[in-house]
Amino acid sequence: LLQHGYLVKGKEMIDFIADYLSTVRDRRVYPNVKPGYMRPLIAEDAPREGESWNSIFEDIERVIMPGHSCLFHILKDMLANGLGQLGFTWVRTKESLNGLHRLIVSLFQASSPACTELETVVMDWLAKMIGLPNDFLHSHADTTGGGVIQTTASDATLVALLAARKEAIHRVQSQFPYLNPSEINGRLVAYCSDQAHSSVEKACLIGLVKLNLVPSDDKLRLRGSALRQAIAKDKENGLIPFYLCATLGTTGACAFDNLVELGPICDREHIWIHVDAAYAGTAFLCPEFRHFMDGVQYTQSFAFNPSKWMLVHFDCTAMWVKTSASLHRAFNVDPLYLQHENAGVAIDYMHWQVPLSRRFRALKLWFVIRSFGVEGLQRHVRHGVNMGRLFESYVKSDERFEIPADRHLGLVVFRLKGDNELTEQLLKEINGGGQIHCVPASIKGKYIIRFTVTSTETTADDIERDWRIIKVAATKILAPLMN
Ligand code: PLP
Repeated sequence: LLQHGYLVKGKEMIDFIADYLSTVRDRRVYPNVKPGYMRPLIAEDAPREGESWNSIFEDIERVIMPGHSCLFHILKDMLANGLGQLGFTWVRTKESLNGLHRLIVSLFQASSPACTELETVVMDWLAKMIGLPNDFLHSHADTTGGGVIQTTASDATLVALLAARKEAIHRVQSQFPYLNPSEINGRLVAYCSDQAHSSVEKACLIGLVKLNLVPSDDKLRLRGSALRQAIAKDKENGLIPFYLCATLGTTGACAFDNLVELGPICDREHIWIHVDAAYAGTAFLCPEFRHFMDGVQYTQSFAFNPSKWMLVHFDCTAMWVKTSASLHRAFNVDPLYLQHENAGVAIDYMHWQVPLSRRFRALKLWFVIRSFGVEGLQRHVRHGVNMGRLFESYVKSDERFEIPADRHLGLVVFRLKGDNELTEQLLKEINGGGQIHCVPASIKGKYIIRFTVTSTETTADDIERDWRIIKVAATKILAPLMN
C-alpha cells in the first residue's frame, strides 16, 4: 500500500512536469516577481503536524511557479533521488553538458527567484525548529545573518574557513599594513579536536593554513583548557589563531565539544567558530537534546546535514552564518554577465558558496518539513534514539563486548573485548554477510564499530535481528580461540 501510494505520487509528479513542458510556450520566460514575493505566500513557521501530499503539491503552482522558469532540474532530481545514489566513493557519475543543457542550466540560474526565496524561508523555518539564536535568521530585523544550503558538511566547513581567513587577513592587515595577505595567510592557524572529521584537514589544505589538532578529553570532547594551551603555544611561535571547527556529534562516537568553555576564549582571540553538527544537528529538533549546543551564541557559523538523519535525500547541508557580509567579502566577484537589477536587495546565494550554479534543494527540504511536520520529525528523532538505546542494552547484556564511549543520541559504538584485530575480524564477518553494514572508527587507539539508526522504518524486531547476526558473527570469531 505504501509503495502504491508513492507510485501514485510519483506519477502525479511526472504528469505535472509533462503538463508543464507542454504548456511552456504559454508561460513567462522570465519570472515577473519582486524580491520577497514568496514570504507572504507561505507560513512564517514550519507546520507542527504533517500536511497532506495534495496541499503541498498544490503549492507548487501557487508558490513556486510564479518565480520559476524551468522544471527540468526537478525531473533530474526525481531520478537522482529515486536511485538514492551517493557517489562519494568508487563509482562516479559523469554528466555530459551539451549545449542545450548548458543553456537550460544558465536560464535556471538567472531566472529562478523561487529557488532563492524558498531557501531563505525554509532555512528560517529550520533555524527556528532547531533553536538557533535569532542572529542566524534572514527575517530577523537587526541582523545580517541567514541560512544557505550547501552540498555537504565538508563544503560548509571550507566556506566558513575561507570567510574566516578573509576576515583575519583584513583584521591583521589593518593593524600591520606593511604585511601582505600571503604573509599573513602563512601564519594563520586553525583548530579542531583530534576527533573532528577529516574534512577540516582538507579545508586547511585548500586554504593553505596550518591546523592544530587539539587533544580531546577522556569523553572525546574538546575543552577550553586544551584550546587555551594550544593557542598560547601557537602565539608564542608567531602564529595567528583565526578559526575553530567545533564538532557537535563527532563521527567516531558522537561526542560534543564544549561550546560554553570554547566560546569566550574564541571571542577574546577573534577566532571564528564554525559548528560541524553533520549528524547530530537533526537531534536539536527535540528540545531535550538542545543542551548539547549550549554556547552556540558564541559561534559565527553552524551546519548540519538534513540528508543524514532528517529524511532529506543527499545532498543537503543546512548552513547558517551570523554575518553574511563575511561570505560576500570572501566570495564576491562581480562580472557584468551576473549583474541584475535586484542586486543588493535580494539575496545572491552565488556569494555564499564556491560554485556559481546551484540546484533547487530547498524544495525537497520544504516537502519533508511539510509532510512530516515538526512533531513528525521529532517523533522520528526520538525513535532513532530509542532504537540506539535498545541496541545498547543488547550489547551491554553480552560479556564478550564493550562500549568504549558513552552512547549519545542514536549512535552506539562497540567492540569485542581484547585486541583490535578481533573487532576488525568481527566487522569483516558482519559486513560480509550482506544483511547489515557497519562502519568502523578508531577512538584513542581502539578500533570500534559504529551502529546507528536513521530510518523511520526500523523496528525493534530489526534491531533484535541485527543483534542476533552480530552475536553469531562474534561466536564464529571467538570460538576457535576458546579451544
Ligand atoms: N562532519 C562530520 C561530523 C561527519 O560525521 C561527516 C560525515 O560523516 C562529515 C563532516 C562529512 O560530511 P559530508 O559528506 O556532508 O561532507
